[in-house]
Amino acid sequence: MTAQKSFFVLGEVRDGRIHSVTRELTGKARELADSVGGRVTTVLLSGGLADSPEDLFRYGADRVLSVEHPSMTLYNQEIETNVLAHVLREEQPEVVLAGATTSGRTTLPALASKLETGLTADCTGLEMDLETGLLLQTRPALGGNVMATIKTPERRPQMATVRPRTFRIPEPSERKGELLTPGIPAALFESSIENLGFDRVEDGAANIADMDVVVSGGKGLKRPESFRMLEELAELLGGGVGASRPTVEAKWMDYPHQVGLSGKVVAPKVYIAAGISGAVQHLAGMQTAGYIVAINRDPDASIFRVADLGLRGDLFDIIPRIIDRIKTEANSR
Ligand code: FAD
Repeated sequence: MTAQKSFFVLGEVRDGRIHSVTRELTGKARELADSVGGRVTTVLLSGGLADSPEDLFRYGADRVLSVEHPSMTLYNQEIETNVLAHVLREEQPEVVLAGATTSGRTTLPALASKLETGLTADCTGLEMDLETGLLLQTRPALGGNVMATIKTPERRPQMATVRPRTFRIPEPSERKGELLTPGIPAALFESSIENLGFDRVEDGAANIADMDVVVSGGKGLKRPESFRMLEELAELLGGGVGASRPTVEAKWMDYPHQVGLSGKVVAPKVYIAAGISGAVQHLAGMQTAGYIVAINRDPDASIFRVADLGLRGDLFDIIPRIIDRIKTEANSR
């Protein structure tokens, strides 16, 4: 019998809290592992945990390896890379997944180089090739014009990063697992880097990535003023406004509102796309939304392929009617 394939998720902890990308990738790793009969391990490095690491069993981890040390209270690329390299050399996993967050994007290239293996950054799709047992890592290539599927046939582990909210976080199960504390040589917690602190960058716009409802507009809006209509709808629904890239390039909206490959990834409960064609680069930023409503006058628009509800028609007719209906319902209560 061949050994079970081992899937590792390098979790992320900020201020003692387990970042949601950790649950998202643990769920994805579970799905990949189940397709080939593998085992999932999630690694947490922190200066101390405020959240329960056992919670990750419910999202699919068979094991959680938790390493706590005061030197990792603030992010330190050198320590994180050295500790993870040690753990991965001991454990020899087949596949390693991590979030394409600021720290993931900093640590993972260094880690891949230390382990002398490849790394596919910012994947938008991951699946197992059941014939070869290799991880198929899909990401946009050639300036985003094609989707490339990349394999790592010889080097191990096969490593990939994924932008948060690319995959749905699974419903938690009753699953149980094993919580372990791996032994790490003390010297690996020493570093020549001193982290003086973090300054949070506020981008000026309410963060649509955290909202339950996002109403987005595309070139079909025709002119910048049309966004006012979307703002009104978003406000009535308690959400925020998103935008396609061409509308941002045309300065109809500011960049923090851009949804897609070169903008934000959002996963609201409801995403309304008005006058957006549904190019792959836009879909990469919203396809995990809970319920997608597409408003477009072109019946062949690609956005309808991902929509749960498709409204074919003129957005200048449909959106004011939705706004009126919501106001009437609210007044009659
Ligand atoms: P269009 O494709 O022009 O679509 C307009 C839609 O409006 C059409 O479907 C039309 O039928 C509809 N319409 C017109 N009038 C009406 C009306 N009155 N009522 C209803 N419907 C109407 N794009 C992004 O959005 N986000 C990104 O982050 C992003 N990153 C990219 C990165 C790279 C490297 C590249 C190469 C491209 C990227 N793009 C991105 C651009 C992407 O390829 C598309 O060009 C873009 O998403 C199209 O924007 P759109 O849907 O607003 O415009």
